[in-house]
Amino acid sequence: MKIENAARGRRAGTGAERCCGSVERGQAADRKSRKKKKSDLRGIDYEGYSSTPMYSVRLSYASLSDQGKIRESNQDACREVAAADGSRVFIVADGMGGHCGGDVASRLAVKAMSDHFTTSSQDPGTRLRTAFNLANQAVQEGSREQPELSGMGTTGVALLFHDDGEAWVGHVGDSRAYRFRRGSGLEPLTLDHSVIAEMLRRGEVTPEEAIIHPLRSQLLRALGTESSVRVDISSFPLEEGDRYLLCSDGLTAVLRDADIADILRTEEPVSAVEKFVELANERGGPDNTTVQVIEIKQLEELEDVPVAQVVERDRDMGRVQSFIEGQFFIPLMVVLQVAFLALLWVLFGTGLQQLVEPPPERTDEFEIAPIEIEAPQEVGEAGELPVPVELPEAVEIEELEIEE
Ligand code: CA
Repeated sequence: MKIENAARGRRAGTGAERCCGSVERGQAADRKSRKKKKSDLRGIDYEGYSSTPMYSVRLSYASLSDQGKIRESNQDACREVAAADGSRVFIVADGMGGHCGGDVASRLAVKAMSDHFTTSSQDPGTRLRTAFNLANQAVQEGSREQPELSGMGTTGVALLFHDDGEAWVGHVGDSRAYRFRRGSGLEPLTLDHSVIAEMLRRGEVTPEEAIIHPLRSQLLRALGTESSVRVDISSFPLEEGDRYLLCSDGLTAVLRDADIADILRTEEPVSAVEKFVELANERGGPDNTTVQVIEIKQLEELEDVPVAQVVERDRDMGRVQSFIEGQFFIPLMVVLQVAFLALLWVLFGTGLQQLVEPPPERTDEFEIAPIEIEAPQEVGEAGELPVPVELPEAVEIEELEIEE
């Protein structure tokens, strides 16, 4: 995959911490990604999924995680990962439980997901789902190994940019993903798995009441709290200029959608993450705030994609589409058209005429009637042309003898 890293994060104020690699690490990961892309061009992996790049995607991104003004530790975690096929994945996790359990849970989850993304060649949806399931297992195992951390859990939201021109988002809990697009503005890409979100959807509280509601932090789903977890997965096409935000609830507890839209509309990723954290802290910084902002700087469709691999890329509709676009389609259509015209000629030309007017029956016995030639009855005078005489049909005039 050809996803290029064009930016990085920076520190912003005391207590802030970059959680996703430096410029150098980003560039190194990029070189690794391009190297892997070559080998992936061989085609189909064991699950039949082609990682042949369809688009060249150039990303600019920045990440920032801040402890906030109230909390004694930062239990959020985030990371940016160059996946096995060169896809780029962004992850935010918001830990919960115990003295340091939340801190452990969020880091265990991010590590388990990152490890999976760096080795898996599954299709994007399966890859996300598997990553969340592995994160769930990792947090559960962490609880078993350290009983004092029992009950810990974490949210998780992951955004995967794939070279098929789509972004894939998976999430559990109340960490969120947003997209800002020119023309359509800010759109949430996730629905919180929380009690207060359900109450809002049912109209039982207003948005203003939800912000201060005592149940505002109670989750309906989390990673590590049960043996299995349901993950919401969705995908949508990329557009050049899109800006994406992943964030923990430390941001959305104090910023409204209008605030988020203003910053995404006006700021590049690096300054955007700084402004998000600054604004959250200006408004009290009641929780850890973690933000990742990713911009689609460039999106170009690649031209020389082999037909066979396009077919494998999308097993459902891709086969038909690729065949129509393929090199055999036009010659086949020409042959079919010629055959059809020949059929029409047979039916409506000689063939049809024969059907409508069948030929007379053949017979081997026939008679030839003698031809009788009568002498002309009138003859013109000398010097005048002879009066034409009626000749029997089918007798050529050269054979006549005219008597004077
Ligand atoms: Ca939080």
